Amino acid sequence: MNIQALKDSVPSSPAFVVDESEILKALKVLVMLRDKSACKVLYSIKSLPLSAVMMLAKSYVDGFSVSSLFEARLANEILTGQGSIHLTTPGIRPDEVAELTSLCTHISCNSISQFRQVASVTQSKASQASIGLRINPKLSFAEDERYDPCRKYSKLGADISEVLNSDIFNKIKGLHFHTVFSAPDYVPLLQTMDKLRQLMGNQLANLDWLNLGGGYLFDQIADNSGFIEQVTQLKQEFNIDVIIEPGNAVVGKAGYLLATVLDCFNSDGKAIAVLDTSVNHNPQVFEYQRQPELAEHDPEGIYPVILAGSTCLAGDIFGEYCFNQPLLVGDKLVFKNLGAYSLVKANRFNGYNLPDVYMTNGEQIRLIKQNTYVDYRRQWVGDV
Ligand SMILES: *Cc1c(COP(=O)(O)O)cnc(C)c1O
Repeated sequence: MNIQALKDSVPSSPAFVVDESEILKALKVLVMLRDKSACKVLYSIKSLPLSAVMMLAKSYVDGFSVSSLFEARLANEILTGQGSIHLTTPGIRPDEVAELTSLCTHISCNSISQFRQVASVTQSKASQASIGLRINPKLSFAEDERYDPCRKYSKLGADISEVLNSDIFNKIKGLHFHTVFSAPDYVPLLQTMDKLRQLMGNQLANLDWLNLGGGYLFDQIADNSGFIEQVTQLKQEFNIDVIIEPGNAVVGKAGYLLATVLDCFNSDGKAIAVLDTSVNHNPQVFEYQRQPELAEHDPEGIYPVILAGSTCLAGDIFGEYCFNQPLLVGDKLVFKNLGAYSLVKANRFNGYNLPDVYMTNGEQIRLIKQNTYVDYRRQWVGDV
């Protein structure tokens, strides 16, 4: 939706707006990849587990990938049996294994010891789930180690050399790896597959499935030939299902955070605008000190302004942006490309309400979620 239309049609602020047409655009790229390579595509719901998004995605994907019991329950409610549910997490609790194995079609255990725990439960139960192993291929591609599943002393995935030296390979039904963050090309995937092929060779043919994880900007990568060739070969050589599970590449471009300027003043000679939102509505801004994109920013604009949130924290700042005219109290601003990992991490620090949530199809806009004081009160008033 165009930014001015969005500002004109959203009646409240702050607001998180999801553009269905952007999600559909991304899903159609994934459907194209699936048609050309015969891979299976799952939506990783942790990036934005909004039921409206899951309902929209479900007819374009083969299922959902989940990280916890609650995500598995929600995925199951939405899919009603019409698709796969893949789980991987370091945190499987002993008291949840039975329910997880009945909700999920596939579980990638995070370690050899977790595999033994899960397998001991599933052997005794009539479980549907296909149990595999998340491996750590020990190939790092991320510069920031907070995003790098293959960092030193990583907690994510069984060390590939330990897997090869154990008898586990004969017991697992599938392999999973997820090693990149927002990768703009398939170089890491092809290098990782080279390593796996060298180390595992024909043993891959004993598996039912291979899950290549998420982390690639599938929706934005121009040249997909390397991916398509690789998946086609894997399927031909080893006769296995090959799965991808993107989150950001489904919803990343579809999310907007609309905010309103509450106050403007100068501080040490710089213009400050306080907004009716805060970094608590998009915590990655503070966590990773990353400035979100703003629709109104013009690099040539002659009015620089520091956009700040409304909480007590001095560092609650989105960043400095440039405008073509001075900002005024009441002006609306729109941060963009916040579909993934923004709303799902939002919190009510300082007692500020969460943003209202809207969906748009590019023309109409509809309110789908509104929190009130009742929700705030339920969170903090003891009731047991
Ligand atoms: C987070 C995650 C994904 C999705 O990652 P995106 O960067 O959003 O595509 C997929 N698989 C696993 C195991 C993950 O941890």
